[in-house]
Amino acid sequence: MIKTEKVLHLKSSRGRKVRVVREHYLRERVPCFSALCQAGCENDGKVLPGDLTHYVVPDAEVVLNYLEVLELVELQGVVFTQTACQALHSKGRRFYNRLRNLLKDPRHDCVLFANEFQEFSYCPREKGESQEKWQTRCVYAAAVWYYNHLAGMMNLVMITEDLDAVSRFSSLNSGVYVIGVQEYLQSFWPALQTAQDLYGSVRQALQEKEADGSQREFPEHLPAQVLEAGIKSGRFVQGTLNVSKHRAQNEAFVTSDGLSSKSPDLSAGVLVAGSKSRNRAVHGDLVAVELLPKAEWRGKVTALSEGPADERSGDDNETKPMPTGRVVGILQRNWRDYVVTFPPRDAAQAQSRAAQRVLAVPWDRRIPKVRISTHQADALQDHRLVVRIDSWPSTSLYPNGHSVRVLGRAGELETEVQTVLMENCIHVPPFSEAQLREMPVNSPEKPWAADPAEVAARRDLRQTHLVFSIDPQGCEDVDDTLSVRRLAGGKLLELGVHIADVTHFVREGSLTDLEARSRATTYYLADRRYDMLPAVLSADLCSLLGGVDRYAMSVMWELDAQSLAVTKVWFGRTLIRSSYQLHYELAQALLNGEEAQVPELARLDPEERDAKLSELIQALETLTHIARHLRAQRDRGGALELEGVEVRAQLDQDKNITALVPRQPLEVHETVAECMIYANHCVASKIQEAFPYQALLRRHPPPRQELFSQLVDTARAAGFSIDTRTNKALADSLDRAVDPEDPLVNRLLRMMATQAMSQALYFSTGAQPEDQFYHYGLALDRYTHFTSPIRRYADMVVHRLLTAALQLERGAEPGKPPAGNKDMEELAEHINSRNWAAQRAQNLSTGLFQCLFFKERDPETDPRCVADAIIYSIRDNGVLVFIPEYGVKGPVYMRNKEGLVVAVGPDGTCEWQSGSVRRHSDHITTMSGRGSATFRLFDHITVRISVLSTNCHADTLTLQVISNQPHLGAAPQRPGSPRRSQLVQEVVRLAGEAQEKAARRPELSKEEREFRQSRTPNLYSLLEEIRELALMDPDAAARAGTVMA
Ligand SMILES: [Zn+2]
Repeated sequence: MIKTEKVLHLKSSRGRKVRVVREHYLRERVPCFSALCQAGCENDGKVLPGDLTHYVVPDAEVVLNYLEVLELVELQGVVFTQTACQALHSKGRRFYNRLRNLLKDPRHDCVLFANEFQEFSYCPREKGESQEKWQTRCVYAAAVWYYNHLAGMMNLVMITEDLDAVSRFSSLNSGVYVIGVQEYLQSFWPALQTAQDLYGSVRQALQEKEADGSQREFPEHLPAQVLEAGIKSGRFVQGTLNVSKHRAQNEAFVTSDGLSSKSPDLSAGVLVAGSKSRNRAVHGDLVAVELLPKAEWRGKVTALSEGPADERSGDDNETKPMPTGRVVGILQRNWRDYVVTFPPRDAAQAQSRAAQRVLAVPWDRRIPKVRISTHQADALQDHRLVVRIDSWPSTSLYPNGHSVRVLGRAGELETEVQTVLMENCIHVPPFSEAQLREMPVNSPEKPWAADPAEVAARRDLRQTHLVFSIDPQGCEDVDDTLSVRRLAGGKLLELGVHIADVTHFVREGSLTDLEARSRATTYYLADRRYDMLPAVLSADLCSLLGGVDRYAMSVMWELDAQSLAVTKVWFGRTLIRSSYQLHYELAQALLNGEEAQVPELARLDPEERDAKLSELIQALETLTHIARHLRAQRDRGGALELEGVEVRAQLDQDKNITALVPRQPLEVHETVAECMIYANHCVASKIQEAFPYQALLRRHPPPRQELFSQLVDTARAAGFSIDTRTNKALADSLDRAVDPEDPLVNRLLRMMATQAMSQALYFSTGAQPEDQFYHYGLALDRYTHFTSPIRRYADMVVHRLLTAALQLERGAEPGKPPAGNKDMEELAEHINSRNWAAQRAQNLSTGLFQCLFFKERDPETDPRCVADAIIYSIRDNGVLVFIPEYGVKGPVYMRNKEGLVVAVGPDGTCEWQSGSVRRHSDHITTMSGRGSATFRLFDHITVRISVLSTNCHADTLTLQVISNQPHLGAAPQRPGSPRRSQLVQEVVRLAGEAQEKAARRPELSKEEREFRQSRTPNLYSLLEEIRELALMDPDAAARAGTVMA
């Protein structure tokens, strides 16, 4: 090892230059991480393949400015130098972390070379040499070292934006090329248009930035040390900026978990009013605010608002003044990729004389307009694009950004669906070839068969157990099956839950595992789904289909046949062959003693069929018996029955949605759910015992009492009292709150209870005290997810934990020890955030389809645009209603923007007239020339549904009251009612036609089709979440905090 000195020129916090001399040690052996290494480097971990045409070495400036181009997974053989890495570090931790993640991610073909520690590639900085020139020289030396180290077997390309370096270095060594980034992308990756576009737009943004600078629009942010000191002393308040959805221009709140404890005054957050006070902070940023003097405090606006156009500051009702402040500094930017729309031509021209600079409008109203420089402003009008914000100097009214890619024309189905995904940071590219190569094969030529070694290692249930599945009709991913039998001459019962053994096929840390982990869940949209795992697993080898051998993870209980007390629990890996693939209606019919055709028995002779049928029916009856007992146990603990999933999709044989029908309360549904809940509960206890500080469980915190006030008040208006003190009391009082005349009342109350609930969360047992493990909704002290590993990553983690626990029990070392508490908690947070994103995306896509459905019709003439609605909340200038037929919730105004009010005639018809509105606790009254009219909670009214199109944002439905009487056409909901099913189908059909009319897309090859995501409509699987899902409405908390419920 050689010792030398390294001279660093650092800037002190006051801006003075400081010269620092550090001891620096050089080594001969620094790993090269190349498969071509001839020198025996210790290349642990990721290695660059040897079969590439070249390795590429970006210089420091390229890494600094074009990291996102280098992040493209298609670029292979990238060598990051320590020099570039350190340069990036000085730019900020966020950028440095991005590079670190890139280097860690096995899907990205890149490595880090510690060039400054390598004896022969290290170059000391010369006197008078600028930092940039020196860095470029270091990177070039590193490239030369690689070429020599790999004995000339690999060409090296250094990319730089320094033209001087190109001319100076390019002819020095054969085999080491030095070219600019643009030339590199054009010559080596001509087909990768994304890279060239991205490069172009980043470069454009950089040039603009240089040209910028004039008048100051905002006060400068305070330096970090000042902010830190101010927060410590209490002068500033630290928190996350949340921009109001409905008053995005004017209202934002700074909230933080810590705020309420500091001072009760700040529990509702700090109001930041107006864009000047917001001082360039963007929704989601971590900011420091300074409170204004009390005299300048303001209240928030409480009236219903019709979007930003309606933002009036003067005459709106405000709540009493609350702590109000202004942003003085930004502690952490939380910028993500945003979808924006390029405004239509006139607007674009009006806003800027320089045609190249466009103010793009973000789809999310909470995000400010972004200034983009582009040569394609004309071509991209009315298109949606993905952009990134680069900077927001104090001299600019708007942030500067650059475009990343084009999604398509606004308003088209595909564009809108991609927008929904992008806005929720959902990345679901087709599975890569490398991932699919990890998968087992099951084809007619090469059928999959159980491995004899696995058969020997597993408990074989194929001959001994009657295993069957019960799922919604048309289900193709069967991840759970059941078995039940009598033991010991009938004294004991044995219940078994058998779950697809996904982790047998998906090795921890494999590419498929990493992909599943980053998705964390299967995403269900109104017309399609994006699977978490490749189809060969989710629809085939991990689907516990009838009549085929499948690996399973099983939980089996022995129960006393009389008392149903559990005497023994067994966990382990099994081999099963399901005998029946039942659907709910069929299973219920069998239980009810009705005539029913079991397809598996169709070909048998009558005698054999009867014997098998009675065996099956007996099993179903025993199962029901046990489940009732389990349910009763939980009911005593206070389990809640909540209104969650409102409809279910009925599918035909081709898996098309034929109808969306209200949930049919079949007991067998409850029975299956109960068994799954019990399995999840027992597995939770098991893994928590084995790993007290690192098990992945799921908890559901009790709700905050104040969130129940709306529920309690609303119920009181209908003459019911709701007791929210405990889950048991709440469950009982909700059961009693039934209006025999109107079943909707109970449904609405349950819906409101659901909204008041906290969210259920995954967590690591080491991160919470044990009294926080409780699952409020299910009334269980331990809970986790074990039963759906095909479509939830949490269940895969739990399967691995269970496997490790069983290995420990046997005295064997676990194959791979489970992650520690910190990593497990990080993973839990990731899965939670992905679940909320999935939920939001699903809601948005439902809303999208509703709008597309109504957009096609004329609200004045089409009878389908008129519907029955029930009032569930009273506001200052209107009411909130629920339309059961379409599952739509929204505001109905009693006073419009012109100040006219709803006037009701003798026959109940409504029209706009001048008048006044008065709000009371349980009703709202309008006064006009036609007299007074009153709208009460739970009244049924008739509304007209139309679409408010905005081009730049999501369309919204507008509801207008046309009669204060119930809608007579409102037929009772029949199962299979065609209206809702038409909604999805018709929208898909119209979109298809529109697409055909437009340029035809190229046909996909067979391979491409296979690699593509499933587009099968699959809403039904959501039902399987049962109550769990109802507890996970991400908007509920947000809604509770804003004026719109
Ligand atoms: Zn080597």
